[in-house]
Amino acid sequence: MTQGKAFIFTAPSGSGKTTIVKHLLAKNSNLGFSISASTRDKRGRTETHGKDYYFLSKDEFRQKIEDDAFIEWEEVYTGNYYGTLKEEVQRIWDEGRHVVFDVEVKGAQKLKSYFGEHALAVFVKVPSMEELAKRLKGRGTESADSLSQRLYRAEFEMSLENKFDVTLVNENLDESFEKAEKLVNDFLNQ
Ligand code: ADP
Ligand code: 5GP
Repeated sequence: MTQGKAFIFTAPSGSGKTTIVKHLLAKNSNLGFSISASTRDKRGRTETHGKDYYFLSKDEFRQKIEDDAFIEWEEVYTGNYYGTLKEEVQRIWDEGRHVVFDVEVKGAQKLKSYFGEHALAVFVKVPSMEELAKRLKGRGTESADSLSQRLYRAEFEMSLENKFDVTLVNENLDESFEKAEKLVNDFLNQ
């Protein structure tokens, strides 16, 4: 089995981790995105099955749990399941690339314990809860109910910042891109 390194980006929803992860993937072809399985609805125009997520029905997801196909999975919001597939990570390593995860905090802690020293876990921090609400609303993807679930969960997620290897404060986006690139390069060169 070949094994590369792992980069775990975690944060409350709306902090900017997907934006940062997409930038890193566009910049560095040695990185590969771990496409998670999810039971949430696809965001119509912006998301593609097999690129952003593997969108599964709840029955399909349950079957994968039974088959022990996940490294970790969580019911992140009521009725919405998300999980990291073992074979997805192997696919990326077999291509000779390092794997990048975009996951919520509990899954990120599990991934860090699973990969240990091979992984760098980065907590993406938004400057304030007000800014988080502004970004989530500005993204225009959430219903009133889903927005309030995300903000409610964010309070708990923010309290776990010190469980990760490093914090990246995402205020000015260009500076965040630079900081993220440096974190990745330094860890790869270790
Ligand atoms: P997450 O993946 O953590 O849920 P996203 O990457 O989807 O977050 O970002 C949430 C929204 O905030 C998006 O509309 C994105 O364009 C915007 N955003 C990300 N980073 C910044 C930033 N530094 N300043 C302002 N807006 C940002
Ligand atoms: P969204 O619905 O905004 O795409 O994602 C909601 C949350 O689920 C985000 O914090 C995202 O990072 C997280 N997430 C995505 N995939 C996984 C996964 O495989 N496992 C876990 N634990 N969380 C995930």
